[in-house]
Amino acid sequence: MIVACQSDTPQFLVFTADDAIQSYTLDAVNQFLAQRKNPNGCTPRMTYYTSINYTNMSMVTDWFVAGNEIADHTMTHVGTPPDDEVDGNLIALNALAGIPLSSIIGFRAPFLNYSMDTLKHLAAAKFTYDSSASASIPVTDSGTDAYWPYTLDYGMANDCLAVPGMCKGEPKLPGFWEVPMYALFDSRGPDGIHLMDPWLDTADGNTAVNDSATLEFMKSTFSAHYGNNRQPFGLYTHPIHVSRSVPGATVSNSTIAMINAFLDWAQEQNNVWIVSSEQLLAWVRNPVPVSQLDSFEPLKCSTPQVSQKICNGMPDNEEGLLAHCAFNDFPWYTCYGCPTQQLSPSNPNPPQDPTVGQERFRLPANCSTPFWDPIKGQCLCQDSSCQFADNSRPIGPNGANLTGGGTGDFGPTATPTQSYKPFNGNGALAALPAGVFPAVAFGLVGAVVGLVSVYAGV
Ligand SMILES: [Zn+2]
Repeated sequence: MIVACQSDTPQFLVFTADDAIQSYTLDAVNQFLAQRKNPNGCTPRMTYYTSINYTNMSMVTDWFVAGNEIADHTMTHVGTPPDDEVDGNLIALNALAGIPLSSIIGFRAPFLNYSMDTLKHLAAAKFTYDSSASASIPVTDSGTDAYWPYTLDYGMANDCLAVPGMCKGEPKLPGFWEVPMYALFDSRGPDGIHLMDPWLDTADGNTAVNDSATLEFMKSTFSAHYGNNRQPFGLYTHPIHVSRSVPGATVSNSTIAMINAFLDWAQEQNNVWIVSSEQLLAWVRNPVPVSQLDSFEPLKCSTPQVSQKICNGMPDNEEGLLAHCAFNDFPWYTCYGCPTQQLSPSNPNPPQDPTVGQERFRLPANCSTPFWDPIKGQCLCQDSSCQFADNSRPIGPNGANLTGGGTGDFGPTATPTQSYKPFNGNGALAALPAGVFPAVAFGLVGAVVGLVSVYAGV
């Protein structure tokens, strides 16, 4: 670390959201962040740990192109997930939301339930970090576990008692990072611990939620971090709980106002930056003093300059161009062509449905999301400033390397589909092994979910 003293170190406020991405949940995040600016004048970015069920894929694209981090939270929201839940999330987000495989670098386990094997699989699948572990001892305690993000070269240092086999040097995953989730503490100290959605908790041993009491412990925990080692402070949200637009919304205006009052208060202080997990990690890997943060690339604004009317995650451009995937249980939209059935861990990228409008081209490995025209199958990037190269990831069967692109005719299918068409002569899809995913009987998936259209998990 080249940053030696506290005054040179920024106070990062990490803002994350979990679960499905829908208009309701993005509304909820926007009411806290859209009006804000970081010290460099850019709108803060955040991390969305995204699960696939009940997610509207076109909104994932929009959120990503606006500069936010999209990360993995399994396909169907299961704790201690099997590998296909983790890998299928990447495949689905790449194929149907146009997120480059190399951009999905983080993971958070649903219910924060994970095992040694979860971490080992994440490292094997070339994730950069996990953010499922809790730092549950206050920074004011000499034995605090509120560590800055660290690599697992010498094992984990959080959740040592909570997860079997953890710590004492295990698991050794060189170069793989843990970004701890930093707990908050009310007036009871270590006995008054809060982690996600602190505004849903009762504080100080009281029996009812009290926004003033919540504000008090959010401020006191933030101040402890600020005045101590500038350990990052986190707001870990399930936006559905603070959405005012979701049907049946229960959140009170005073709770929304309280959260904004907290953020106002935090931002009044010197060198406070609201960031995504990815941005925090970028700084930890390459720390610069606060005086240089304005020119620190990972914190800069990222508004791509694309004005053509293409389906690219920019709402003004893509008007009228989204494909409507009219599934009975949960319909959604995408720029990249509707699949023949809902996405599932056993079939995260079903063949494209030729009956839903024109065939679309998936994001290839040699074009970035805002520059890709999935209808024409063209990359609009003309110069080096927007050049892009995605990576393949070992997330196929038995660790086979997968690369994005093509039109979605992966593997054998139960229904007739159009054959694969190369894009721009680049045969990226040829890297796929034959028979990537087993066919799933049409109609099996999705039928069990019923008419629930809003997902409110944890
Ligand atoms: Zn969740």
